[in-house]
Amino acid sequence: MKPFIPVFRPRLPDAERLLPYLRRIDASRIYANWGPLTTELEQRLARTFGLSQPAVVSASSGTAALVGAMLASAGRATSARPLAAVPAFTFVATAIAVEQCGYRPYLLDVDPHDWSLDLEKLERHPLLHQIGLVVVVAPFGRPANQAACRCFRERTGIPVVIDGGGSFEAVCRNPGETLGAIPTALSFHATKSFAMGEGGCVVTTDEPLASDVARALNFGFESSRNSVAASINGKLSEYHAAVGLAELDQWTGTHNAFLDVAQQYRCAFAASLPNHRLVVAPEVASCYALLEAESADAATEIRRHLEESNVDTRLWYGEGLQRHDCYRDLPRDSVDVTQSLAPRLIGLPMACDLTADAIERIVATIGEVAADE
Ligand SMILES: *Cc1c(COP(=O)(O)O)cnc(C)c1O
Repeated sequence: MKPFIPVFRPRLPDAERLLPYLRRIDASRIYANWGPLTTELEQRLARTFGLSQPAVVSASSGTAALVGAMLASAGRATSARPLAAVPAFTFVATAIAVEQCGYRPYLLDVDPHDWSLDLEKLERHPLLHQIGLVVVVAPFGRPANQAACRCFRERTGIPVVIDGGGSFEAVCRNPGETLGAIPTALSFHATKSFAMGEGGCVVTTDEPLASDVARALNFGFESSRNSVAASINGKLSEYHAAVGLAELDQWTGTHNAFLDVAQQYRCAFAASLPNHRLVVAPEVASCYALLEAESADAATEIRRHLEESNVDTRLWYGEGLQRHDCYRDLPRDSVDVTQSLAPRLIGLPMACDLTADAIERIVATIGEVAADE
């Protein structure tokens, strides 16, 4: 049997790179609650996005960041507006976060080209008056359209939160288009391009909203120990901030390595499988190498063949939210695009140090399926 190729192999900062930051924690004896490292991380991230400091609020995960952004901008669900509109084409965390805020997810379909919600269409939705929150997802790290979100919010009065998920690179590349007053939650989970194990942040240029996000992530406390608003504990620890700072130190190298692997994938497909649709950076985040198969059956066949060859794959969003046991019975529109797209988008192995040999083996194995047809 050929060696196993995992679908994703993270490489976070090693112990050597963490040590200077850990020593600072030893000296300060501050371990949580926006200590010096967390504050420095927020400042460095804001600078990376070209924003001033209060714009970034760190969180213990991308899901916590989503809950913080939702509670701060929309509060908990009300009986008049019990629904939160979410795309069916997303990672389950989107639905989990809106439920944590008391909303019933209402599933909508996505556009077949940009894989994202059509907000103009949503404005005319018959259930709009029951929707208390809209979550726009940046699928696979594709850029979210901040202006369209702001326009929807102004025209309907309904709060919008962007689930930026793995869109750190799209945000760095084009902060003007992706960031603004509408809050964007980012995930820094180990499987994302910019990663710290577990972690995330909310980015917004609306300063009062940024304070409300921090409050929502810290028991509803503001300047006293009086809990004044709906909240969770979603704070980042100083230890995770240490990983985040060390990850920022090495980010240029890691990012270039990911982009290089994406380029190698592109060349290998162009040479051997020019009729296959490969989706890699910069179209999506550089932690993804997606193969869009022609049909769900073709995708199953390719995945089965890769598995027999000891190559791991993943449908990162499953077959859409509507296919998860927990979310089958949710109210929804027809979700034809999601139903067609999600089972065809195969996550191929990715790592910043994936070897040329591994890529060759993966592409050759996919080629065998094509040859059998
Ligand atoms: C990764 C991801 C999340 C969840 O982030 P965690 O840090 O794992 O909680 C949410 N939404 C999207 C679109 C993601 O890709």
